[in-house]
Amino acid sequence: MANQRETERYQNSILDPIYQNIAFFYEDTETVVESLHRKKVSRGRYGRYHNPLWEKVEKRLANLEGAEQGVLFSSGMSAIYHSLMALFEKGSFILAPVQCYKNTKIIFQDLLSKFGVESEFVSLEDPDLFLEKVYNCREHLDAIFLEIPSNPHLYFADLEKIRSIIKKDTLIITDTTLATPINFNPIEWGADIVIHSCTKYMGGQGDLMMGCVLGKNGPLDTIRTHRNITGAVPSSHDTFLLNRSINTLSLRMEYLNNAGVQLADYLKKHPKVKKVYYPSLEEHPHRHLYDKYVKGYGGLVTFDIDADKEKVSEFVDLLEHPYMASNFGSPQTLIEHLSVFTYYNLTPEERREIHITDGMIRLAIGYTVSIASIINDIDKALDKI
Ligand code: PLP
Repeated sequence: MANQRETERYQNSILDPIYQNIAFFYEDTETVVESLHRKKVSRGRYGRYHNPLWEKVEKRLANLEGAEQGVLFSSGMSAIYHSLMALFEKGSFILAPVQCYKNTKIIFQDLLSKFGVESEFVSLEDPDLFLEKVYNCREHLDAIFLEIPSNPHLYFADLEKIRSIIKKDTLIITDTTLATPINFNPIEWGADIVIHSCTKYMGGQGDLMMGCVLGKNGPLDTIRTHRNITGAVPSSHDTFLLNRSINTLSLRMEYLNNAGVQLADYLKKHPKVKKVYYPSLEEHPHRHLYDKYVKGYGGLVTFDIDADKEKVSEFVDLLEHPYMASNFGSPQTLIEHLSVFTYYNLTPEERREIHITDGMIRLAIGYTVSIASIINDIDKALDKI
């Protein structure tokens, strides 16, 4: 007779426990055969492959996104890197946007290229030119990678049109970290795979680092196997924190969507602000795409102050509430003077090419201080410069 072992003491805890565990046991040889050999019975085996809380969170995220399945990773970057490594091979060709996260660009330019995966960057700025480029290379295109909304200008792409002009088996992969599944669901519009850095709004507390890939079973099975072999898995504790954060994701995004519109409206009317990049505004070049695709505009507002670099730095230093830090989705409001922060090591010409001006500020709204107080803070600082 098989050994009797106690498995679960309580099964009625409201919160899911952390499974800080590596090996999972089988009750008897028959279960080993049914589970391992025949795949008829589901059992955990080993901590690099299985964790009950991962599976719970993967299902919750897949449901939010309208995906068949989800796979969790140790960070947004590992989700991107391992998905691409799992799906493509020597000779594959991928289009990616010029306006994507700098480390994502490095994955395409310096890492995938080592394995013979070719890529080309196309600007999202003019949606028609983007479509034209896609159309011209559709015959040998294996995938399109889209980071939408883009950072910091919040450019978008006409996903439905892109899907309609490419071959059926060309994959569309999106990084929609900035939108979250609350504001935008790319799978509804023809995307195959959706990636998020859960470190940002999904986590929402500035205390966890994770990524997820959501999509159809075929490619997701391949990505899961790749993750399980390479071990780019999240910690049990971070997974517990993400499970907690998903409970408040829609509340937080609703707040940020409203706060973003209020801040953009205020900035647009200010005489010292030259331009505001926020898609609720008519002046945003991709407003028409947002009208079609999104349910909210999110918590990131970029604006250009009509002053020289030193004055703009003075403005940032005068602010009381925002932290000068490079992240979004934290409870605290974070601010970057882009030309002296994320883009400081580009030449002025390189900054001009990607439309980063000396006066540009990126503000990631948080929720520990009200949006009225943030606007008041900005107003006082703008007055002084
Ligand atoms: N995708 C986007 C749009 C990002 O902004 C970032 C990080 O800033 C990442 C992915 C990478 O996420 P992580 O920091 O979780 O690796």
